[in-house]
Amino acid sequence: MKKMWIGGEFVGSHSEKTFRVVNPATEEILAEVPRGDRNDAADAVEAAAGAFEEWRFMPGVERADLLHHVAAACRHHRTELARLMTQEGGKPLIENLDEVEWVAACFDFYAQVGRDQKGRVIPPVQRDQFNFVVKEPYGVVACIVPWNYPLLLMAWKVAPALAAGNCVVIKPSEYTPLSTLRMAECAFSHLPSGVVNVVTGYGVEAGEPLTTHPKTDLIAFTGSLATGKKVAGLAALGMKKINLELGGNDPFIVCDDVDLDVAVRGAVWAAFLNMGQVCTSAERFYVFESVADTFIQKFVERTRALRIGDPLGPDVDLGPMIAEFQRKKVEDKIEEGRRAGAKVLCGGQRPPGFAKGFYYEPTVLTSVDHTMPLMKEETFGPVAPIMVVKGIEEACRLANDSIYGLGANLYTTSLEHVFYAMERVKAGTFWINDPLTDNDAGPFGGMRASGFGRELGSEGLEAFRDTKHVHLDYKLSSKPYWFPYDWSKARKTE
Ligand code: NDP
Repeated sequence: MKKMWIGGEFVGSHSEKTFRVVNPATEEILAEVPRGDRNDAADAVEAAAGAFEEWRFMPGVERADLLHHVAAACRHHRTELARLMTQEGGKPLIENLDEVEWVAACFDFYAQVGRDQKGRVIPPVQRDQFNFVVKEPYGVVACIVPWNYPLLLMAWKVAPALAAGNCVVIKPSEYTPLSTLRMAECAFSHLPSGVVNVVTGYGVEAGEPLTTHPKTDLIAFTGSLATGKKVAGLAALGMKKINLELGGNDPFIVCDDVDLDVAVRGAVWAAFLNMGQVCTSAERFYVFESVADTFIQKFVERTRALRIGDPLGPDVDLGPMIAEFQRKKVEDKIEEGRRAGAKVLCGGQRPPGFAKGFYYEPTVLTSVDHTMPLMKEETFGPVAPIMVVKGIEEACRLANDSIYGLGANLYTTSLEHVFYAMERVKAGTFWINDPLTDNDAGPFGGMRASGFGRELGSEGLEAFRDTKHVHLDYKLSSKPYWFPYDWSKARKTE
């Protein structure tokens, strides 16, 4: 049985209960993991709170060294961590090898950014004074992570949180706790005890007590809109700070001035990467009418050519979905679309030849419109509905017809289209001719219901630092405007 990482040691749950982690490709049980509860969450928060004083005052260079060491350990254990993520999450190994490298790069980035500055000096309002804006860590940060990028989305929180001087408690998804527990062992164990803690378990039993614990200062959450609302509500009751990275329903606009072969390859990848289980998956396509027939035909050809199979094997583009519940949600959504008149051009079924595993064929639909939940709600699955539009104005109007605003994509070579769309489409990230590329130095996050706060970039560090204004008078002189008031010195207004 696996154990949780609390206060620098591996421990079981107080309740001694466990849950099972299942391989979505084979449906085999991979491991039993502690089903953490309120008491375990409290232990982890106390451990983090206990480590905070030492960690926050550690010199920047020393802290940077320790964070670089996390990055080096990730790289050293890259294949092992990637295999574990593939086994528990179903993402093809080639993608998880990349994910581990991105995790390492994120720790390297914040190791340096974290020691760059601690605020700023501002001009005082009087002579003989100094004014500082000092940046401070919050204290204990609860990092609640989903299953689709278990280590990357953990790193986007933990690396800047630690670099800012906070201590953390990580709650991985119940579907993908194994890679995080292994990270604790191979990449976090050199850190002082309590600086990083991992509590495994279900959202309500282990995640919720972390968000409500009086010593948790900030909650960094990535997950669905529904859970995000719940977390935000609980955080508000305790007046806790929150960073929310929630769902998306990203639009993908294709203009008539592009090389369609390139645009189609980019579009198919943006739709089906990780079986569409990416918060920034392209979930709806708007294609200019003059190129729509060719685009759709090429899109279907490319989709049919995708290779579904064992995600650990070579020559595989798509693995299974995370779990039966997620596959069922996609099936229901497609069925609902069909009933409303959508046409399935390919996919729309479980692939033949897979007795086990939560596999599903990548699906392309046309004859869709904005009355269908398929276009308006997050699907989080391998589904690409394509609508034909007259031009850039209609495409942007439809792109904005969503409660979300996480990412958006545009394929064009026209500067006019670029600037028209970039200034109008509501999205935290706007990709032009290269979908879904993240950059450690650039902020990532959502507008509208996709959340608030940003991860990555300098904004991603600020999210984990509180602000203090320090006013210093170095003369120790009495001020003429103190008691007793003297009207002769009052500022004249007439
Ligand atoms: P969930 O919202 O179901 O879960 C996210 C995390 O929250 C999990 O660790 C979950 O634990 C935990 N959790 C569940 N209930 C509570 C609670 N009451 N209190 C505290 N924690 C809780 O999301 P999924 O894991 O299903 O992830 C998919 C969603 O994440 C999609 O909507 C996707 O768009 C979004 N996402 C957003 C990203 C972004 O950056 N904006 C990036 C990636 C995904 P458990 O798993 O045990 O239930």
